[in-house]
Amino acid sequence: MKPSKDETVVAHYGKLLGLEAPWRVHAAQLDLLRGRVELEVAWDEGAAVVCPECRKECARHDHAPEREWRHLNVMQFLTVIKARVPRCRCPEHGVKTVRTPWAEPGSHFTLHFEAFAVQLIGACRSLTQVAELLELDWDGVQRLVERAVTRGLARRSLADIRWVGLDEKSFLRGQSYISVMNDIAGARVLEVVPDRDQAAGEALWQVLPAAARKKVEAAAMDMSGSYVAATRAQAPQAAIVHDKFHVAKMLNEAVDQTRRAEHARLQAAGDDTLSGTRYLWLHGLVPEKKQASFAELLEINLQTAKAWCYKEQFIEFWAQPDAAHGAQFFADWHRSVVRTRLTRVKAVAKTLKKHLTNLLTYFVYPITNAISEGFNSKIQAIKSDARGFRRFANYRARILFHCGKLSLLPNLPRPSGCH
Ligand SMILES: [Zn+2]
Repeated sequence: MKPSKDETVVAHYGKLLGLEAPWRVHAAQLDLLRGRVELEVAWDEGAAVVCPECRKECARHDHAPEREWRHLNVMQFLTVIKARVPRCRCPEHGVKTVRTPWAEPGSHFTLHFEAFAVQLIGACRSLTQVAELLELDWDGVQRLVERAVTRGLARRSLADIRWVGLDEKSFLRGQSYISVMNDIAGARVLEVVPDRDQAAGEALWQVLPAAARKKVEAAAMDMSGSYVAATRAQAPQAAIVHDKFHVAKMLNEAVDQTRRAEHARLQAAGDDTLSGTRYLWLHGLVPEKKQASFAELLEINLQTAKAWCYKEQFIEFWAQPDAAHGAQFFADWHRSVVRTRLTRVKAVAKTLKKHLTNLLTYFVYPITNAISEGFNSKIQAIKSDARGFRRFANYRARILFHCGKLSLLPNLPRPSGCH
């Protein structure tokens, strides 16, 4: 007997969904006006039910109320699966809803939809854009991000991490801070926590299981005491390496402050020598058309130029062949700095001397948080997507999604016929 037209349509959708017994498409409703396809999926009443916890066959309890899962579109039509999923009564685990082959437990989306959404989120600059493309609300997209991150974190390996970095980032337009732990060799963010105090640093370390924490040989960080104290408390074996980019930043600031003070002094006497020169002193490279005038500035007996010279000299510290040469270089540099009247640079030299031991560790473990700087552009893009800032958890999930190198995609069911 020839199947009726409706039976053919239903069987067609069943094949597209890859459903196998005891699941089948029971009905397909087209709502052309609303642009929706609704596929009602049913369970063969006679089939055995399996407890999702222990996988044991048990008695069927009842059916859960009808639910919807968003699926990939059929042509231009938004498509949902609807079903009343049976619940089993397991002697050990009680009443449980059985697993469906098309979605992860607790998800409002099918596996195929989630997989597509995760790739779209990875490719788009903002969640608002993803929400528009997927015809979802913003919170729905955020849920997809969180689910993907949870999946990725459960799969992630934290074994054999030898070098980590602890770093702060501004949050909520600089009103507050977050702390980030990086796996330096793996070039990935491991965790993000609020604040930048010792407790924040310790919380980051605790993301690594005790055995993994003990294997960390060195940690890169700034010279503020919080991360140092956190590392001493949680991973006392790890060498502390002060990040050379933080040192460069401190010296740059000292040059800038020297210039500002000197510029004010000169201007008071009607001298505009330092006007418009700010960036020349800060950048490593002076643009070609400014090189001649910059060379002239260096010839004049300026405090700013002297400060700049000491900053530039210090770059060579990092290029020393070993800690002994590093210590010698530092002693010479420090000696000449303290003889000057460059208050700002002297203050930095004093700080560096205080932390010298953990600056010299660089020659054994040449690590920095540079990868964290690389993440900055990604994090900036996330930050500009301002709606994500209502909650710290949103921000954390977005950073881990984009910078955590996590395996984010759900496992898709194998297409039938490929066993
Ligand atoms: Zn069970």
